[in-house]
Amino acid sequence: MDIKDGFVGTVGNTPLIRLNSFSEATGCEILGKAEFLNPGGSVKDRAALYIIEDAEQKELLKPGGTVVEGTAGNTGIGLAHICNAKGYKCLIIIPETQSQEKIDTLRTLGAEVRTVPAVPYKNPNNYVKLSGRLAAEMDNAIWANQFDNLANRQAHYETTGKEIWEQTDGKIDAWVTATGTGGTYAGVAMFLKDQNPEIRCVVADPMGSGLYSYVKTGEIKTEGNSITEGIGNSRVTANMEGAPMDDAIQVDDQECVRVLYQLLRQDGLFMGGSVGINVAAAVALAKQIGPGHTIVTVLCDGGSRYQSRLYNQQWLAEKGLLPD
Ligand code: PMP
Repeated sequence: MDIKDGFVGTVGNTPLIRLNSFSEATGCEILGKAEFLNPGGSVKDRAALYIIEDAEQKELLKPGGTVVEGTAGNTGIGLAHICNAKGYKCLIIIPETQSQEKIDTLRTLGAEVRTVPAVPYKNPNNYVKLSGRLAAEMDNAIWANQFDNLANRQAHYETTGKEIWEQTDGKIDAWVTATGTGGTYAGVAMFLKDQNPEIRCVVADPMGSGLYSYVKTGEIKTEGNSITEGIGNSRVTANMEGAPMDDAIQVDDQECVRVLYQLLRQDGLFMGGSVGINVAAAVALAKQIGPGHTIVTVLCDGGSRYQSRLYNQQWLAEKGLLPD
């Protein structure tokens, strides 16, 4: 028998998918870790589970308690599912710039959702800081604090990284993915380097995020912006601190959209925006290191969360981003 133990038992152990059209075009094996197949629909189910179980083990979260978090959506969705499955309440603070689909899903899942204006991290009303303050004012509540809570990257060190190593039989040359909290990137990069320090670990970065310049020059510069959600950062989070970063690749929205529509039309994969950045960066990396290499990236979430944006031709046309 092969039966999973509820929602929680179904998180992780996702397939590793060969991205055929991109592999054939580059002569590399370009592989995507299918995180959209997690039960809550994204890579963030893993971090949400580790954060909640870490708080349970430390007896910070007690029966009937509330999990509070500031999130671009996917962490909140993962937390809300796990709260339902374990009997906790969930309070989510989300910037109003995030897709309506994610906000609606959070409400359907029963989370209390507060949308707030999107302001920079240094502003005290930033969604992350606000969620921390609210949690501190409540009884029997924890702040998930995904950006700086190391249970996040631990999830990826112990599960995602190990799975990728086993699924490739250790025959992996490079790891590349974009970062939001950095939990996925850092946890996997640290696990892979511990197995084989030769594996190249590369940060993918959308325009407007500061990690590309940080890796290249040591300084954070945040010029431009991106239609992608859940990725990019203006600081080095605790989860990214100490993570190996051999190089960085910057990807613009035009290339991201082109890759998303190639995934849809040629590979049959209907993906969220950060996947366009990840796969475009994997292709750029393949061109740098040449054919015959195995490159792994992440298929973070599915396209239905962005139907009204990335898959709406009028919305794309208004942004000047219609694919050919
Ligand atoms: N892609 C999407 C769609 C996300 O929601 C997130 C998380 N915010 C990421 C990528 C990045 O994951 P991480 O927080 O582990 O860096």
